[in-house]
Amino acid sequence: MRTPAEIHTNAAARILTLHWADGKTQTITHAQLRRACPCSACRAARLAGRDIAIAPDVTLTGVEPMGYGAQLLFSDGHARGIFPWTYLESVAQQHGAVR
Ligand SMILES: [Zn+2]
Repeated sequence: MRTPAEIHTNAAARILTLHWADGKTQTITHAQLRRACPCSACRAARLAGRDIAIAPDVTLTGVEPMGYGAQLLFSDGHARGIFPWTYLESVAQQHGAVR
């Protein structure tokens, strides 16, 4: 299974950085992560075409590794999303900058 070698979150810049074992580094903003939340409620809202109200200054307040991914806790109190590593990688691929 592909898991990041290191994860860094920068609360001031509101950016999550994923360091992969192959040397790839990906960054993604906390707001993009919140918008991509894979919990059933957020997924249903996206499928229905509803916009999830997200504060532009939302921050990631916690990362709880769960083996196949991580539960992400946000400053708006939302903590239901468990982001599989492969999903995080693909979200970062779509929205983030690859260095
Ligand atoms: Zn959610």
